[in-house]
Amino acid sequence: MDHLETPINITLPPGMDPCILGFTNGTYPNGTKGLGNFKFGHYNPADPEWELCQLHNDYYYNQTKYGLYTTYFLVVAFALAGFFHAFNWLDSYGRLRGSSFGIKMLRVPRAAWRALSYGQIHSYLPTNGTALFLAIAWSFMSAYCWGIRPYYRPPNYGSSPLGLRSEFIATALVPWIYLLPMKHNVLRSLTRLTIETAQTLHKWFGWFCLFFSLVHTIAQTIRALRQAPWTYTYAHNVYYRTGFAALGPLTWLCFLSIPWVRHRFYETFYILHLVGALLFVVFMYLHLDNDLGSWSYMHATVVLWGSALGYRLLLVAHNGLHAPRAVVKPLDESTTLVEIPTKSGFKWSAGQFYWIRFFSIRPLSSHPFTVASLPTDGHLAFIVRTMSGFTKRLPNSKVTAPSRVWLDGPYGTVATKNFYACSSVLFVAGGSGATFVVPLMIDIIQKKKAEQSLCQKIHLVWTAKCQTEFTWYLPQLRALLEDGDDVEVSLHITQSQEEHDIGADTKVVDTQWVPAVGRPNIESLVHGQANTVAGKTGIVVCGPEGMVIDTRNAVAGVQLDVLSRRVLADEVELISELFTL
Ligand SMILES: Cc1cc2nc3c(=O)[nH]c(=O)nc-3n(C[C@H](O)[C@H](O)[C@H](O)COP(=O)(O)OP(=O)(O)OC[C@H]3O[C@@H](n4cnc5c(N)ncnc54)[C@H](O)[C@@H]3O)c2cc1C
Repeated sequence: MDHLETPINITLPPGMDPCILGFTNGTYPNGTKGLGNFKFGHYNPADPEWELCQLHNDYYYNQTKYGLYTTYFLVVAFALAGFFHAFNWLDSYGRLRGSSFGIKMLRVPRAAWRALSYGQIHSYLPTNGTALFLAIAWSFMSAYCWGIRPYYRPPNYGSSPLGLRSEFIATALVPWIYLLPMKHNVLRSLTRLTIETAQTLHKWFGWFCLFFSLVHTIAQTIRALRQAPWTYTYAHNVYYRTGFAALGPLTWLCFLSIPWVRHRFYETFYILHLVGALLFVVFMYLHLDNDLGSWSYMHATVVLWGSALGYRLLLVAHNGLHAPRAVVKPLDESTTLVEIPTKSGFKWSAGQFYWIRFFSIRPLSSHPFTVASLPTDGHLAFIVRTMSGFTKRLPNSKVTAPSRVWLDGPYGTVATKNFYACSSVLFVAGGSGATFVVPLMIDIIQKKKAEQSLCQKIHLVWTAKCQTEFTWYLPQLRALLEDGDDVEVSLHITQSQEEHDIGADTKVVDTQWVPAVGRPNIESLVHGQANTVAGKTGIVVCGPEGMVIDTRNAVAGVQLDVLSRRVLADEVELISELFTL
């Protein structure tokens, strides 16, 4: 450190801390006294002494940069995701027009990224790509939170720099945490993040925010305890009271979202989550008090959150005018069909889902279901598997007359253009996952007939516990096969013979449709599909967690064959849906 002039013209020797008076309780090494006074037995510096110490120790007025670093990092990361999406779109567009421009460009990095990112180690962890991104984000934020010194200044020399850095990192995360779970938002439109990825980032950023908020709270509490009795600080410094008030809802939001709690008490969780989110925003406004312009993060949060909610309400109102009533028909002992006639102007696409609220059954809760029909069918159809809550009441609800519903959606846009550009597609469905997979398959076949898709080879592999499930789509599947399209259908039953004989309607599957018993080998199916025809291969999967994870790992694994040209496909892309939020 260079020589420093103190306010009373003492020159500090090189290397001496400009906060020296704080460490020596008000006396310079040569015995001269500082200009300050004393508080609770600790030296309380005069303003110029405070300023000198601050200027050379992570200056208070420069702390906003740590919030900006966090924001810039996330903007760059999402811009890269947007670029990746745009490139995929251009590639598909080129393929559909017979150009190989996109195929040659970035073939190797794209396959390498998919090999790294598609897989998933365990259902408790996100996909490897999301986990990698989260690890990088965590390391980046931690690096400047912990890597810069000092962590504390002497008593009465201002807030702990560690406490301020962590506060700005946590605050800068808030707008992203509120934006990501919104079903319709600018970020998802630009980057085409799936709802699952956006939800995962929302949850993990929530934990990051809690972690950095705790670092902030602990550091600021240590700072307070070093200079005054706790009761004095708590009574005289409003920041501590509002800070604890904000920390309460944040902790509640994170712990209430643990999958065990969330899955068991979804509806209670949902309401408490909304209340917690609202309280957190209010207390953050009070706590930040616009110090160093920190309200800008909260204003961004309110605008992004409010506009997404407002748009959602507009959608519900629009849908109410165009598809107001639903008819409920039990399909079998574990499945119910919900049909909603639609008026013209009502739009959705294959693979999308709606949140449905039945006023006559449970007016206070809405549930997501994938549209099992296509817009060309002229009505919305939902195939609902009976679970233990609302879906159990639905078939017993005696809703025989058309019932008034709230439809919130459609959500979950699938990048279908990428799939129209595929030469071959493997569709893997598990149980009610067929409601996602089969409409996408029928859609691509319709596009093929209209010469808007390059697809030459389609294989549907549908696994169910019992064969009655196959009746949901049997007429459509049969029509496809009779049409002579190059479609292969493989059905699998996973219950033992005795189990599925009980109550199973044996007429539903004729000789052409004898299902295999046991699970399909997903890895060899994926590899086989990638080796069917040259060009791009698409893999679509929706079903139980184990099936989706196996498919993700298989598609990650086949990228190595793409890289080493051991398969005909020059690219293998995956769409996976888990039916969890
Ligand atoms: C995007 C998406 C699409 C889906 N599509 C279909 C479909 O086409 N067909 C189908 O049968 N199922 C589908 N599901 C699953 C369906 O939403 C749940 O099975 C249903 O909400 C369970 O209601 P319940 O009250 O009977 O649940 P419970 O028996 O109380 O709980 C069963 C599970 O459902 C989850 N759950 C409960 N309520 C909700 C809710 N309001 N929102 C989200 N999850 C909830 C819980 O976490 C729990 O793990 C889909 C889910 C998602 C997220």
